[in-house]
Amino acid sequence: MTETETKLPSSAAYVVVGAGIHGLSSAWHLAMELKAKGKGSGADVIVLDKTGIGAGASGIACGCVRNMYMTGPIHSILRHSVDVWTYDPVAFGFQQVGYISAGEANQAADYEKIHSSQNSVGYHSDLYQGKDAKNFLKKIWPDFKTANIDVVLHEKISGYAGTRQAVAGLAQKCRDHGVRIFSGVEVTGYQTASSGGHVAKVMTNKGAVACEMVVLGLGTWTPKHWAMLGRGDTVEAKYPDGATVKKDMWTYWRLLEGEVYIDRPYRTAADMDPPVLHVELMNTPVVDQRTGKELQDHLYVYWKNGAERMDRPGVQGGTIPIKIGPKAVTDPYGHANDEYQAEPGFADYLTSAMGQLMGRFETCRKDFRERRNGGIGAFTPDNVPIFDFVAPNVYMIADSNHGFKMTGAGKLVAKLLTGDNRVPELVPFRLSRFQEGKTFGASNSHCPWV
Ligand SMILES: Cc1cc2nc3c(=O)[nH]c(=O)nc-3n(C[C@H](O)[C@H](O)[C@H](O)COP(=O)(O)OP(=O)(O)OC[C@H]3O[C@@H](n4cnc5c(N)ncnc54)[C@H](O)[C@@H]3O)c2cc1C
Repeated sequence: MTETETKLPSSAAYVVVGAGIHGLSSAWHLAMELKAKGKGSGADVIVLDKTGIGAGASGIACGCVRNMYMTGPIHSILRHSVDVWTYDPVAFGFQQVGYISAGEANQAADYEKIHSSQNSVGYHSDLYQGKDAKNFLKKIWPDFKTANIDVVLHEKISGYAGTRQAVAGLAQKCRDHGVRIFSGVEVTGYQTASSGGHVAKVMTNKGAVACEMVVLGLGTWTPKHWAMLGRGDTVEAKYPDGATVKKDMWTYWRLLEGEVYIDRPYRTAADMDPPVLHVELMNTPVVDQRTGKELQDHLYVYWKNGAERMDRPGVQGGTIPIKIGPKAVTDPYGHANDEYQAEPGFADYLTSAMGQLMGRFETCRKDFRERRNGGIGAFTPDNVPIFDFVAPNVYMIADSNHGFKMTGAGKLVAKLLTGDNRVPELVPFRLSRFQEGKTFGASNSHCPWV
C-alpha cells in the first residue's frame, strides 16, 4: 500500500478535509461505524490534505495526554480518547505513564471540582492536599522542591504519545479499514447545491469531488474554511450570568515549547518513566537560574520525557502560549515559519522554572536544545472546542488547540454522522452555546486552555 493515494475520485460519500489527529481519527472511526451499522465501509471515506499526513499541529505537538480542564464536559470526551489511545498503544506510540498537576492553595477548590468531575465519568484521578501533596511528589521525584505546592491531582490513565508515531498509526488504521488518503490535494472551496447551504461538491486543486458529507479537521486553517463557507468573523457570546460580549470568532495563539538535554535518564525514584508533570504556581515568581533576575511573577510549566522528539536523551516541555490575534499567517506552518519561533527568553524561562522545581534541573539552561520550535493554533471565542455542523452536511471539529489528545472526538463524531441521533458528549460543544448563554470560560488560570 502506498503512503497516499494518487487518483482523486470524482465522488465520495464522506470527504474528510485535513489529515491531522481529528481528520484521521474521524475517518478511521467512520469506516468502523459504517461497517458495524451495515451502512458501508472505509471505501466510502476519503481524506484530503493539502500537504500530507501530520503536516499541521498534530505532527509537532508535545504529545501530552491529560484531562486537567475546568470545562467539565471535556472530561468525558477525554475518557473516550484514552479508549482510542489504548486501542493500539504501540501503533500510536502511547505511553500511559499518568499525569500530575500541582498548584498552590488558591487552586484547591478548582482541583476538587475537576477531580470530582473526572471520576464521575470514569476518568480516575487522585487528589492530594497539604502535606500529602508534598509527600506524594517526593515519593516520585525525591528532588522535587515542594515548598510552594499545596495541591496535586494525579490522573492515572493519562500519559503522552509520540506525535509523528500517533499520526502515522492513525493513518495506518485508516488504510487498514479501506480509507483512502490523498496528500497534496488542497480544498479551495465548497460548491453548494441549494440556498440551504448543502455542500454538493468539495472543490480542490486536483478537481471537484461530489460528496454527501464533509468533515473538517483543519486545525489552524479552520478560520479560512469558516470564511469560505460564508460565516462571519465575530460572535455575540452570551454567558450564564446574562452578560453578552462581542468576540472575534477565531484568535490565533502561538505555542511555546522546547527541549532540554539530560546526562542521566529522567526517571522516577522507582526507575519508571515519570508521569507528565504540569505545575502552575500563580503566586511564585520565576527567577533566572543564571542571573537571579525575576523573569515572570508566576510560574507555569509542563514537561515529560522527550521521546521521539529528541536526537539524544532529554525532556520536552512548554509554558503558556502567546496571543497573536484574529489574523495570522498560517503558511508555511510550524517550524518552517520565521514569525512564530520562540524567543530566547523562553529558554531562560523554561529551564529556570524547571530548576526551581527539581534539583536535577538547577543548572540546565546550558542544556537547552537550540532548534526551531514554532507552531500556532486557532482558538474559539471561549477557548473551548466547537464540534458542530457549520452547513447541513458539513461537520466541523475545531478543537481550540486542546486537541492532539482528543482522538476520542473523531470516534464520537463518526457515531453521530453514521446515524446515532444524539451523542450526548458532543452536545455542550455546539455552536449554539454562544447564543444560548452557555458560553464557557470561567477559569482561575493564566492559561487559555480552560
Ligand atoms: C507546538 C504545539 C504543541 C502542542 N502540544 C500539544 C500537546 O502536548 N497535547 C495536546 O493535546 N495538544 C497539543 N497541541 C495542540 C494539538 O496539536 C492540536 O490541537 C491538534 O493537533 C489539532 O489537530 P487537527 O487535526 O485539528 O489539525 P492539524 O493537525 O493542524 O491538521 C490540519 C490539517 O489540515 C490540512 N489542511 C489545511 N488546509 C487545507 C486545505 N485547504 N485542504 C486540505 N487540507 C488542508 C493541513 O495540511 C493539516 O495537515 C499542540 C500544538 C502545537 C502547535
